[in-house]
Amino acid sequence: MNIDRFESAILNCRFCFMCRHLSAVGNVRFTEADTPRVRAAMLYGLRTGTNSFDDMDFVDALYRQDLSACCVRHCVNHFDENGLALAARADVVEAGKEPEAVRKLAAVYRRLLEKVEWKFEGKGNIAYLLDGTTAADKNVTRAVEQLFKAAKVSPVWIAGGPIGKVFKVLGYLPEAKAAAEKFAASLEEKGVKTLVVSNPAAFDALTKDYPDFGVKLPCKVLHVTQWILGAKLKFAKKPGAVYPIADDFLRNYDDLDAPEKLLKALGAECRPFGTNEEETYNCGEGAVVLDKLHPELVADLARYVADRADDPKKDVLAVGSVYAKRALRKAGLKAVTLEELAASCLG
Ligand code: SF4
Repeated sequence: MNIDRFESAILNCRFCFMCRHLSAVGNVRFTEADTPRVRAAMLYGLRTGTNSFDDMDFVDALYRQDLSACCVRHCVNHFDENGLALAARADVVEAGKEPEAVRKLAAVYRRLLEKVEWKFEGKGNIAYLLDGTTAADKNVTRAVEQLFKAAKVSPVWIAGGPIGKVFKVLGYLPEAKAAAEKFAASLEEKGVKTLVVSNPAAFDALTKDYPDFGVKLPCKVLHVTQWILGAKLKFAKKPGAVYPIADDFLRNYDDLDAPEKLLKALGAECRPFGTNEEETYNCGEGAVVLDKLHPELVADLARYVADRADDPKKDVLAVGSVYAKRALRKAGLKAVTLEELAASCLG
């Protein structure tokens, strides 16, 4: 089984309650089933025969996880309970026991993958991936355009379909790999040498999932914050006071410090948000499509964040993803992405 690769997490997490406060879903549902300890105990039970994927409560708990990876990051031994959860989802899918909502959502993405034709607009050495989530937020795409213009760079704009991350988080590994191979082949064919990405989920897919699948990319991948820093843009204004919200993928999965460096380069007056620096305030960003599977849960997660804001209507929350921005804005918070913040400082 896929979960067998996470033996240390199963054996250790099932007896540990140390990171329960970092389970965002557990914090809004007040349920033990939504903590790493009980999920690991349930998966241990799967192996000993006292639990099975026929129990839909168990399977639902696996698909309710926010997958922020905060617990892994802050665990003293870094036991990978997040990787365990993803592996468990792959095992659920292989057993054909995934919830109907998950099956339907995967079918939508499978249809997109079947007909995907990657479009490359423009010419040049630098390409920008306009993934579906980023493309849906016109303010963010406009900000990215402004930043490229300020750097006097005309990127090749790439758009098309799924690159595999949604399949990966839902547990459909063959489809995730097929999507990765298709995208990598298109980049190879077009001779892309540098690919800039805004969506942290896409960045993680390209830099972590693809190597795991054995899919080689022909290009260097940069998160947009890395590219902005490297472009050495002149910023005429400072953003003022902001509350940086550490991104699930960029901080916990990919250990990327470019977002913090960018805020420093912009001269932002950074203020600490919430009660601690450990937990996630991204409303299930790591689960990528939690807002499609459980919109009510994402609304609860956003309310939890709003309750921690000093002045919910005025405080500017600097987030890493369009996913988090969308969820937090629905709760009335003034969330802006790092691209928007940087573009607003151009003058
Ligand atoms: S990840 Fe670490 S802190 Fe969290 S339950 Fe597992 S062993 Fe405990």
